[in-house]
Amino acid sequence: MGLLTEFGELFLPRRCAGCGREDVSLCTACLKLLGGIPRAMEPRYGQIPVVGVSEYSSQVSHMVVNFKDNGRRDILDPLALALARSITAALELAHHSGGPVRLFPAPSSAQARRRRGGSHTAVLARRAAELVPELSLEVVDVLLTRRHHDQVGLGAHARQRNVARSQYLEPRASDSISPAGGGESGADILVDDFSTTGATLAESARVLASVQIRPAAGAVLGLGRGGTRFVSPFTV
Ligand SMILES: [Zn+2]
Repeated sequence: MGLLTEFGELFLPRRCAGCGREDVSLCTACLKLLGGIPRAMEPRYGQIPVVGVSEYSSQVSHMVVNFKDNGRRDILDPLALALARSITAALELAHHSGGPVRLFPAPSSAQARRRRGGSHTAVLARRAAELVPELSLEVVDVLLTRRHHDQVGLGAHARQRNVARSQYLEPRASDSISPAGGGESGADILVDDFSTTGATLAESARVLASVQIRPAAGAVLGLGRGGTRFVSPFTV
């Protein structure tokens, strides 16, 4: 083994961030999970349709947890590209005609932000914006949350109770963001890693409505099966 190879292996992750397979950053099977055809669903809570490119699975969940909690920045691009595809489909669903787009990432708690050096959904959204420059995506990271109880393992009602009234706007945000992004042709999109019942996105929409911002759709990586109905499959 050459010195360069050894040196490189000190820094290269040795396990798939999705399934733990050795000697690969993301294995082909896990990468494939991020490459699904975008689908839209009507969530149980809220009025906003949500688009995702994968089904919620333990592998995709592991990828996100490894990215946000275990420093696996090597999978930023595959995750961000999947999110970019979801955002593109969400814009199609919203009949977006080409104006500027604002992305509102789901909030992380102040504690998680400090630990991770920022909101992981905002990091994903920023990278997604870089990957599709022609869409003029602007990330507006103004949503905060008072607490962050994990939603995993909770039933639909418990999820909704968990997030109800949990979010708020960054104190100075209401002065700095305009009600309509980019005029009449612009669009506002909520962004998160997963959506199961839509409760988190509905809470974001409630907070943004207080400053006359009404997102057209949500874009996520993975859609869960939490009592939701799938609508309008995309053909792209
Ligand atoms: Zn894998």
